[in-house]
Amino acid sequence: MKTLPKVVIVLLLAVAVAGVLALKSRPSAPESATGAAEAVASPEPLRVAGETPDPESAPAAPAPPEGLPRLVELGADKCVPCKMMAPILDELKTEYAGKMEVQFIDVWKNPQAGEEYGIQLIPTQILFDASGKELFRHTGFFPKEDILAAWKELGFDFGTAPDAEPAFSRWAPAQPDTRPQDAVCYLCDGDIDDRTCTVMSTPAGDVGFCSPHCYVIMFASLTDETKSHQNAAVTDWVGGTRVPVTEALYLYGMDEGGRPEVKAFAERNAAEAERARSGGNVFSWEQFEAKETVARCGFCDRPVYPEDASIVRVDGMQTWGCCVMCALGVAARTGKDIHMTARDALTGEPITVTTLEGHVAELEPPTAVAWAGARKDPEGKIVSTGCFKQGFFSNEANLRKWVEAYPAATGHQTTIEQALAAKMKLTPEQISKACKIGECVPR
Ligand SMILES: [Zn+2]
Ligand SMILES: [Zn+2]
Repeated sequence: MKTLPKVVIVLLLAVAVAGVLALKSRPSAPESATGAAEAVASPEPLRVAGETPDPESAPAAPAPPEGLPRLVELGADKCVPCKMMAPILDELKTEYAGKMEVQFIDVWKNPQAGEEYGIQLIPTQILFDASGKELFRHTGFFPKEDILAAWKELGFDFGTAPDAEPAFSRWAPAQPDTRPQDAVCYLCDGDIDDRTCTVMSTPAGDVGFCSPHCYVIMFASLTDETKSHQNAAVTDWVGGTRVPVTEALYLYGMDEGGRPEVKAFAERNAAEAERARSGGNVFSWEQFEAKETVARCGFCDRPVYPEDASIVRVDGMQTWGCCVMCALGVAARTGKDIHMTARDALTGEPITVTTLEGHVAELEPPTAVAWAGARKDPEGKIVSTGCFKQGFFSNEANLRKWVEAYPAATGHQTTIEQALAAKMKLTPEQISKACKIGECVPR
């Protein structure tokens, strides 16, 4: 047995070799469902069985400690696909305890192990039967469903993954929302301020919004081709009368937090007087609407205030996610890797996510979790409660504090990988309909 000189293994060659190994050692092995699993050569030399890898002389794997089918992953804690595998291995370990053994070996810290298993690339996953016989080998990222499918093909049906109970959930509000319906914004559920109330008349009744901004978002979400601004009115900041949205003037200023603040006026004099007092710019409806819709969600196309949004970088371009879930959805809509920055919904601390081929490759802080604002419909199916009810948190404790502070919030805790996976599952048609409101009717 020789040690390879300290060289970087040429990736293509290594992939080819691993492919040969995999083919020879998996008589009835299923194809990897990803097809293009990414194999990564260790930057450290792996000790291998001879300079020319020979699958026939690969040493037998160590015997399993007990009579369970076994999944062994050989990887390293710092390789990107290995990091992506870590939560999957954890889940398999928990969900199939007593049925399947799951083992992780860090070959950078323990190069001897790489030699024992005769691997060329990391991560490599090897499936063994209960007697320790190798059944199948895979290199690169190996999605959970594909692992289970591979086992199934080999005659080991562990069933589909049980619906793991979310770490934390609340399906009934801690306190009922007792606000009268006409005091609640149709879009964001915020309180409607009498001075900024915007109302849309529909055949089913009036629909109220907390601000012209929520109205603009709502209007952009309507799929009705005949939609028109003719049925909407804003409240005059001074007199409290209703003014058709297209006839009002808009004072576009900033609140103390640097977030846009919009006041509508029936008369220019009044708008100018308020501008002299509080600053900002006075716009016509056309100018106001253009300004409101210049930044849009990269997933659902809704107008956003960048100040409210998550920042998403894709292909060197910047876009926004109107909520954290939409930000993840940019990876699904574009089919590209994204880098997003969100804020902890409780503390405002930044949380960054980098994706790789539809999976979370890096998460900072690694303890970050997501709250999926949701409710259960009469059939018990979980449905989203919309963009305004989603959030990321630096850790579970922050999430719980936030849920406590919002007694009306319902939904469940989820991992950011699970939240991304839900978006990646969407069809192009579902993405095109995301966040759209077919018919505007009061609840
Ligand atoms: Zn609102
Ligand atoms: Zn969106």
